[in-house]
Amino acid sequence: MDLVLATNNPGKVSELRDLLAHSGVTVMARPEHIPHTVEDADTLTGNAAKKAREVCAAVNKPALADDTGLFVDALDGAPGVQTARFGGWEKLLTAMDGIPVSGRLAQFRTVVVVAYPDGRPELEVEGTTNGVILTQPRGDRGFGYDPVFVPNDGDGRSFAEMTTAEKNSISHRGRALQNLLKRL
Ligand code: IMP
Repeated sequence: MDLVLATNNPGKVSELRDLLAHSGVTVMARPEHIPHTVEDADTLTGNAAKKAREVCAAVNKPALADDTGLFVDALDGAPGVQTARFGGWEKLLTAMDGIPVSGRLAQFRTVVVVAYPDGRPELEVEGTTNGVILTQPRGDRGFGYDPVFVPNDGDGRSFAEMTTAEKNSISHRGRALQNLLKRL
C-alpha cells in the first residue's frame, strides 16, 4: 500500500519511514506543490484530519497526517494543541520555573489520521507517552521538546539522549503508528 505523508519535514518523513519499514506500507513525502494546511482546529484530531484530507484530495491517494501536542499538568494541559506555536522548550522551562520535580508531569499525545480517496472511512489512532519535564535540557538528538522530556517507560534518559530506534519504541508517534499498523 502507498501512503502519501502530509508532511515534508525531513526528520518526520524519515522517522515515519523507519516506523513503517517492513510493514508493506510505502511512504512518500508530501509533494511540494500542495499548499500548506492551516492548522486552526482546536483538537489534535481536527488538525490531523484536515491535513490528511487536503493531501488526499490533492494527490488522489491515501494520505497520512499526524498532529502532536505536549500536555503539561502544571500548566493545565498547555501548550497542548498549540505546541507547534508555543515557542520551544526554553519558553516551557521559563513557564515552569520553580515547579518541583514532583509537579512536572506531562504527556505527549499524537493523533494519526489516514484519509482515503475512494470513500472508505478515515482511520484514526492515538499514541501517548507519559513523562516528566526536566529543569535543564539533556541530550542533543531528536527535535522539539526532546531535550527536556524524560519518558516514564525509559531508563531515565531524555528523548534527546536516545537513539531514534529507542525513542520510536516508546514514543507517542511510535505507539500511534503501531496502533495504525494493526488497523491497515
Ligand atoms: P507536530 O504536530 O508533529 O508538528 O508537533 C507539534 C510540535 O510538537 C512540534 O513543533 C514539536 O515542537 C513538538 N513535538 C512533536 N513531536 C515531538 C517529539 O517527538 N519530540 C519533541 N517534540 C515534539
